[in-house]
Amino acid sequence: MSATPRIGVLGAGGRMGRILVQAVQQAGYQLAAAVERPESSLVGADAGELAGIGTLGVKVSGQLADVLNDCEVIIDFTAPAATEQHLKLCREAGVAMVIGTTGMNDEQKAVLEESASQTPVVYAANYSVGVNVSIKLLELAAKVFGNTVDIEVIEAHHRHKVDAPSGTALMMGEAIADTLGRNLKEVAVYGREGHTGPRERQTIGFETIRGGDIVGEHTVMFIGEGERVEVTHKATNRMNFAAGAVRAAAWVVGREAGKYDMKDVLGFNNIQM
Ligand code: NAD
Repeated sequence: MSATPRIGVLGAGGRMGRILVQAVQQAGYQLAAAVERPESSLVGADAGELAGIGTLGVKVSGQLADVLNDCEVIIDFTAPAATEQHLKLCREAGVAMVIGTTGMNDEQKAVLEESASQTPVVYAANYSVGVNVSIKLLELAAKVFGNTVDIEVIEAHHRHKVDAPSGTALMMGEAIADTLGRNLKEVAVYGREGHTGPRERQTIGFETIRGGDIVGEHTVMFIGEGERVEVTHKATNRMNFAAGAVRAAAWVVGREAGKYDMKDVLGFNNIQM
């Protein structure tokens, strides 16, 4: 872990990129580089001004290769094909990475694995510290309740979201299913309608709400006889992802080569339950 890591932000003009620049600044770390697509009109702009936090004196570059040597760690929230190229460059330069890009195909995931055999790479589908804490709580609840309760996952997102249930809801369902020795693919029930018959205990239900500007809300219910436990996470803006990614960046600098996730960053693997 480095006290003031030199961090490069890729996709610095994107929705997450701009907030990542803010999060690096808020954490008191050094923004060493900001990178956009070479053809982007944002190349040459000041990364701080783009992020709405005033001039930082870091100009957006169009080529990662030009600025890579200034960085100890790269945070990449861009797009799968771009991340694949960034992984190769960082591997050659021996620079650590924190990757938030989702939707990578099997080939791109293989490039990630290969890079992680030579440099440290953190990959998480959700960098929110709160979501990751929630998942740990879900594992604890699942372990203690075992097969004595019915489990339902309810998620709500804004009206523009195109997939359901959310990736985070599935992550939560998977963590619970793994803890209980169930296969989520076999036990998941998505929405209910018509004559469903009585509920089977082994199933894990998913319900989806879409509307307005909800950033992201997840509630998991453990429903027993005479009592119910609910674990809820509510995201109010994207800073929760950015702050988690910046925390991961500080953590990964100086680590051995390997593929890490937020459980490693947050030290969950050392917590006994
Ligand atoms: P966005 O489209 O607003 O931003 C992506 C940016 O990357 C754009 O500015 C684009 O120009 C830039 N980019 C593309 N190719 C590039 C390249 N070769 N070099 C440099 N920059 C390049 O998207 P977004 O909402 O910021 O999300 C970005 C990614 O992060 C998506 O895959 C999204 O699903 C993911 N995401 C992950 C988490 C998480 O916690 N893991 C959270 C939010 C978003």
